[in-house]
Amino acid sequence: MSSFPDYLTYTKIPCRTSENMAMAMQFHEWVVPLTDAVVAAFLLLLGGNLGSFLNVVVHRLPRGASVVGGGSRCPECGSPIRWHDNVPVLGWLFLQGRCRYCMTPISPRYPLVEACAALVVGLVASVELLGGGANLPGQRFVGLGFGSDVLLTRTDWPLVALCAVHCAMLMTLLVWALLDHDGQPIPRPWIMASLAVAVAANAALPLKTGAYPSLHSLADALLGLAVGAGLGMAAGRPALRAGMMLVGGSAGVRGVLAVGLLFAVAAGLRRLLCGRDARAASVGESATQTGNWAALDLFAAAVVHQLIWRSADEWMARIPILGFDPAEWLIRNANLSAVVTLPDVLMAVGIPLYTS
Ligand SMILES: [Zn+2]
Repeated sequence: MSSFPDYLTYTKIPCRTSENMAMAMQFHEWVVPLTDAVVAAFLLLLGGNLGSFLNVVVHRLPRGASVVGGGSRCPECGSPIRWHDNVPVLGWLFLQGRCRYCMTPISPRYPLVEACAALVVGLVASVELLGGGANLPGQRFVGLGFGSDVLLTRTDWPLVALCAVHCAMLMTLLVWALLDHDGQPIPRPWIMASLAVAVAANAALPLKTGAYPSLHSLADALLGLAVGAGLGMAAGRPALRAGMMLVGGSAGVRGVLAVGLLFAVAAGLRRLLCGRDARAASVGESATQTGNWAALDLFAAAVVHQLIWRSADEWMARIPILGFDPAEWLIRNANLSAVVTLPDVLMAVGIPLYTS
C-alpha cells in the first residue's frame, strides 16, 4: 500500500478535519485490502479460463484442428458442452468427471491444468501487479508502491504489459510441457514466434536502466537465448531446448542460469518424491504411458523463478563470474549503440524486417 497522505491526494478526500481524516483512514484500511482481494480473484479467474483454452490447444493442435473456431465438444459422443459445464475446474467437479450425455469419464488432467493455470497466473500476476514489480530485478520498478490503490490510480502500463508477457511465457511453457509429455512435437513456427516476442518485449519494456536500457536488455535477452540453447542442448530434449531458450530470451543470462539450477532441483525432487510407478498412478495412466515430465519440471522452475526473480538475480550477481554483465560490457566497450539498431539485431537473428 502507498503511504497514507499520498493516497489521499488521489482519492481527493479532504482531510482538513480530524473527523474526515479518521474516515479516510478507515476507508484506506478496509477498502484497499478488499480491492486487493478482488483484483487477485479476477486474475485467478482469468488464469482458470486461460487454462481451459490451453486444454483446447493441447487437445486440438496435434489433431490439426482449429484452436479458436468451434465450441467444445465431448471427444467421445460429440455432444456440445454447455457453458456452465465448461466453467474451469468447477464444471468437471459438478459433473463428477463424466460427460453429461454419454457418461464417458473426462480425464482429471483437464481440471488439473485449469487449476494450475489459475494458480500460476493468479499468483504471478498478483505478485507483480499488486507488488508494484518488486519481484523484478534491477531498479526499473523500485519505489512504485504496493497495492491495488497504486495499481488502479497510478497504473504503470509498462508493468502491466510486462506482466502479461511473463504470464504468456509461463503458459506457453505449460502447453509445450504438456505437448512434450504427450509425445507431441512443438510446432516450429510457434517456438520462433514465442522467442521473437520474448526478445522484443525485452527491448520494448526494458528492465535494465542506464544510458541504453533497451539495447542493454535486448543484448542480455539475446545472450540469454544463446545460453538457454546451450543448457537445453545439454539437457538433450527438443522441448527443453525450446523452453530454455524462451526462458533465456525472457529473463536474460542470469535468469536462465537461475532457472537451470532450479530445474535441476525440481527434477531431482520429483525423482526423489515419486518413483516411476507412483508417477504413473498419480495421473491415472498406465505405466507404459507415463510420458516425459522433464518439461513440466522446467515449467515449475520458471514459475518459482518468476516469483523470486529479484532475489535470485541479486544472489547470482554475487557470484564473481556472474556479476560480470556481458551485455553491459558490450554496450560500453564496443560502442554498440552507435552502430547497431534494433532492426539490425532482429535481422541478424533471422527475423526478416526488411529486404536489402
Ligand atoms: Zn460425451
